[in-house]
Amino acid sequence: MKRLFGTFGVRRVANTELTPEFASKLAASYGSIVQGKVAVGGDTRTTTEMIKHAVISGLLSSGCDVVDLGFLPTPAVQFAVRNYYEGGIIITASHNPPKYNGIKLVDADGIGTPDEMEIKIEKMFFNDNPNRVPWNDVGEVETNSGLLEEYIENVMIRVDSDAIRDAKLKVIVDCGSGAACFTTPFLLRKLGCEVITMNCQPDGFFPGRNPEPTEPNLKELIEVVKATGADLGVAHDGDADRTICIDEKGNFVFGDKSFALVEKYILKENKGGLIVTTVATSSAIYDIAREYGGEVIATKVGDLIVARELKDRNGLFGGEENGGLIFPDFVYGRDAALSTAKIIEIIARERKPLSELIAELPVYYSEKMKIECPDEFKQGIMQKIVHETREFEVDTTDGVKIIKEEGWVIIRPSGTEPIFRCFAEAKTPEEAKKMAEWGISLVSKYLIK
Ligand code: MG
Repeated sequence: MKRLFGTFGVRRVANTELTPEFASKLAASYGSIVQGKVAVGGDTRTTTEMIKHAVISGLLSSGCDVVDLGFLPTPAVQFAVRNYYEGGIIITASHNPPKYNGIKLVDADGIGTPDEMEIKIEKMFFNDNPNRVPWNDVGEVETNSGLLEEYIENVMIRVDSDAIRDAKLKVIVDCGSGAACFTTPFLLRKLGCEVITMNCQPDGFFPGRNPEPTEPNLKELIEVVKATGADLGVAHDGDADRTICIDEKGNFVFGDKSFALVEKYILKENKGGLIVTTVATSSAIYDIAREYGGEVIATKVGDLIVARELKDRNGLFGGEENGGLIFPDFVYGRDAALSTAKIIEIIARERKPLSELIAELPVYYSEKMKIECPDEFKQGIMQKIVHETREFEVDTTDGVKIIKEEGWVIIRPSGTEPIFRCFAEAKTPEEAKKMAEWGISLVSKYLIK
């Protein structure tokens, strides 16, 4: 049982739980195992610089050399590691509020570290015995100032730049003052789009909006898309591994819709292929795969689990219902820049507005709800729910997914926060809401007792 790591890395309140001492010891433990050149970068949080320096110290003390990549998206670090380095550490709390920060560790492929490695790191951390090298073996620090440009170039060569340029699209970009400030506006301008930016000044206080790209947090973006007659709006989370779109009418496009749209397009382009996703993803993904010669594998929830499966099975494309899309020939993890460019390429090539492209997809309605629950009660509650729902068709790949005729609901404890998430899908919004509420009621029933 892991004590430190959640679904992807460690996430804590910065400088109370996640202190420089903690970060440095964790990095030294990681460095003791990697023993090579490690890339370090992070998002725009107020505490990222502080934690980054502690992480670098820890790595150097374990004998690793460090490449300081500065502030940049999580997938840009993953891209760098996969191509050049033996390991990577990303300082980010993704979409969490500003007081949080986190440490994501990746392996030499740029994928979140596997369980076996995390258990080894934790052992070293708690036994207080990372490998500290003698004074004359301490590592060195260098920078790679061309990395961001190379990352953007590598997005551009994966899409039809000419078609995008010809389409002359107007795009409103809302980076939420996060790490995408360094990539998306530049990428889209290079692709010939007319770009209007919102919240594109890096700022760890996230003054414009909360870094999680949910519909309530993107109200202003929606208004600006409508007011300017833009072709679409694009928003990212804090560390720029997720892209959420607003269509030309100002409708919020749920992540599972953009996933299905890109899946359809890639399957058509490649005449079939293997799609990897999680058990929490829409049935639309399966419908599209059936129609366009694809095969779907469903894993536990977690982008690194999907990424690893894509690598191991040589999959074509993957993603999650929250708008995290994985292009395994580029980065073994969710990537916001290529997701954005792909969606824009589809609009440009199909010569249809985004709302129309979305309307052509299979229709399901989803409902997400959450309920607070202290970590120590999670396991017991899960067991009781599994027992109570045994008469239904269930999938326990992750949490419990209960499949009924009208739709399904998946109830699972969060790996990073003291909450349970219930995610439901059905053919009507009312049914989806009912299913999600039923899921929540099952958790709260055992929470009180
Ligand atoms: Mg993120």
